[in-house]
Amino acid sequence: SSWWRSIEPAPKDPILGVTEAYLADHSPGKVNVGVGAYRDDKGRPVVLDCVREAERRIAGSEYMEYLPIGGSIKMVEESLKLAYGENSELIKDKRIAAVQALSGTGACRLFAAFQQRFCPDSQIYIPIPTWANHHNIWRDAGVPMKTFRYYHPETKGLDFVALMDEIKSAPNGSFFLLHACAHNPTGVDPSEEQWREISSQFKLKGHFPFFDMAYQGFASGSPEQDAKAIRIFLEDGHLIGLSQSYAKNMGLYGQRVGCLSLVCEDEKQAIAVKSQLQQLARPMYSNPPVHGARIVSTVLGDPNLKKLWLKEVQVMADRIIGMRATLRENLEKRGSPLSWQHITNQIGMFCYSGLTPEQVDRLTNEFHIYMTRNGRISMAGLNTGNVGYVADAIHEVTK
Ligand code: PMP
Repeated sequence: SSWWRSIEPAPKDPILGVTEAYLADHSPGKVNVGVGAYRDDKGRPVVLDCVREAERRIAGSEYMEYLPIGGSIKMVEESLKLAYGENSELIKDKRIAAVQALSGTGACRLFAAFQQRFCPDSQIYIPIPTWANHHNIWRDAGVPMKTFRYYHPETKGLDFVALMDEIKSAPNGSFFLLHACAHNPTGVDPSEEQWREISSQFKLKGHFPFFDMAYQGFASGSPEQDAKAIRIFLEDGHLIGLSQSYAKNMGLYGQRVGCLSLVCEDEKQAIAVKSQLQQLARPMYSNPPVHGARIVSTVLGDPNLKKLWLKEVQVMADRIIGMRATLRENLEKRGSPLSWQHITNQIGMFCYSGLTPEQVDRLTNEFHIYMTRNGRISMAGLNTGNVGYVADAIHEVTK
């Protein structure tokens, strides 16, 4: 009975804490722009029609059986086509070691464990800022972390000069975590031209690029377009690592379905690497969940369902892009003298507004608008019904 006596409660997760506070508020006009989950224009969570249809098709089949340790072969194949390209030589040559993972978080964690086991003296460079969980994932996997400069607070855009400096000054052969598209929390991505420069500098330095792609399709509306950074690195012959998630782009948040892949030098190496990934997964969770994997492979494996999915991703992305324009217009219409251009320059689920923690506190306390204190607005929480109200409130606290 005395085993746990000295244990203190862990600190609350900053993002989930926002949701708790929002739920406890009984004001009718309250707005939640904290958590990064898609909502429709009525503020409701969405199950995609392609997913409903896939569930109809798989209902009643034998899908309660265990999957192999590496997960659904079909789901993994479809994931690789989506990220690496339908006609990827790497896929044909069987040079990619890939396993199903427990969504994006699980893919990152499995990679971190792999890095720790096979490159025990390595570190990982993560951008400032980044998704807060990246810190936890590599810390718990026992991989030391370094940070690199990425975001420019004044321009609210990319600090490309600093970024290139960091890449140059890191020791040769360093591991870097890169957001493939729709950087969380800033919404700031390098341009294609900048990605090319980043890629060639990585080449010169012999760095290892690990891409976290949690939002393929959510940035531009096109999964093909959002894979551009990855394709540029592949063209340059990098052996990349990649985490994929279907949480956002297929709305499968709670299904925990994703994919981890590592490009290898040849098929033999890929077989060895995959077997080691499975060896890591086995004592952690044995094998990944089957339902979400069946949904993904059914949607992506059927040309008609895939077409429907592409349309639905586009609709979600377009609604968010539209909300960016409306929020900015509303702020400008109210005569705000500040520049709000970054709202429409940034991309993906989030707007890194530049609001200070004190301004965020006022939004919450005076206007019942809930968000993280770093000023990150989840654009999916905005809709035609509340965007005017939110613009008024932001204008008020930034006067
Ligand atoms: N990486 C980034 C950058 C993210 O924003 C998220 C989702 N918030 C994830 C990974 C992983 O999410 P999930 O585990 O739900 O796929």
